[in-house]
Amino acid sequence: MAETIPILEGRDLVQHYKVAGNRTVQAVDGVSLTLHEGETLALVGESGCGKSTLSRLMMCLESPTSGQVLLEGKELTALRPAALREHRQRLQMVFQDPYASLDPRMSAVEIVREPLDNYGIGARQDRNEMALSLIRRVALSPDYANRYPHELSGGQRQRLGIARALALRPRVLIADEPVSALDVSIQAQVINLLADIQAEQRLAILFVSHDIGIVAHLSERVAVMYLGRIVESGPTAAVLDNPRHPYAQALLDAVPVHHPRLRRRRTLVAGDLPSPVNPPSGCRFHPRCPLAVERCRSEVPALRSLSGGRQIACHLVSDSNN
Ligand code: SF4
Repeated sequence: MAETIPILEGRDLVQHYKVAGNRTVQAVDGVSLTLHEGETLALVGESGCGKSTLSRLMMCLESPTSGQVLLEGKELTALRPAALREHRQRLQMVFQDPYASLDPRMSAVEIVREPLDNYGIGARQDRNEMALSLIRRVALSPDYANRYPHELSGGQRQRLGIARALALRPRVLIADEPVSALDVSIQAQVINLLADIQAEQRLAILFVSHDIGIVAHLSERVAVMYLGRIVESGPTAAVLDNPRHPYAQALLDAVPVHHPRLRRRRTLVAGDLPSPVNPPSGCRFHPRCPLAVERCRSEVPALRSLSGGRQIACHLVSDSNN
């Protein structure tokens, strides 16, 4: 892929939360991500690995313990709330549960119109028509414009959530498991809608998902997260065809094969994801890794660049042992 300027960049993001007993949850621990115009970067990993925390950090919904988020080169993490609000309109989120994210007291057209009112977009008398146009864009009938969220199906609510997210013409969408609550037959429609809108508006999408089949279909690049850290990233086809990190291999082994790009392997990972409170020393995957050596228990593997745009955090993987 030709080198382009990142639209959204996370630099060395850390998010540690203090919890009872003076303990610390290390939810995100030194993650850097870049997202370019018009591309979809998928973030995958087991439940509890820090994907959602990382997406909220990238969205500036919470302040990191340390690290920076930059939107079009501007550091958002250094801004005061009023200045952040201006930049945030170019950064929108599509939520996993549209029902929880939509105000139940507002009709569909009011829900889509609200951000236009909040940011003073367009003339006041034009905003209803702008909202209706967005509702049509997500293939919802304008007949639904005066319905309330509880009167819509799950798929219709998610379309409405997307219409609202698009109202401010963002450059970046962060979609956190946007179809996992929907029926399989509806998932494809919503995913195809996102892909169409992306192509039309050159949107960058950070797509958080545990569904590898959808990731294969939608994303150009993928980053695999384990216990707060990125362990492998690279072009989706390369990573899915030939994951190099032992955890990425195990993760892809564990998914049902619904996509021709995926084939079964025999690496299986033992045990559950450890707690992010007092995570394992060294390589956080070492207690579950079938290849672990003594060094893995004490030395954190750096995320190193390999050929083909791949990055891997493992002491034992290099270009020469491909
Ligand atoms: Fe396994 Fe060691 Fe590589 Fe971690 S660094 S994935 S424990 S071999």
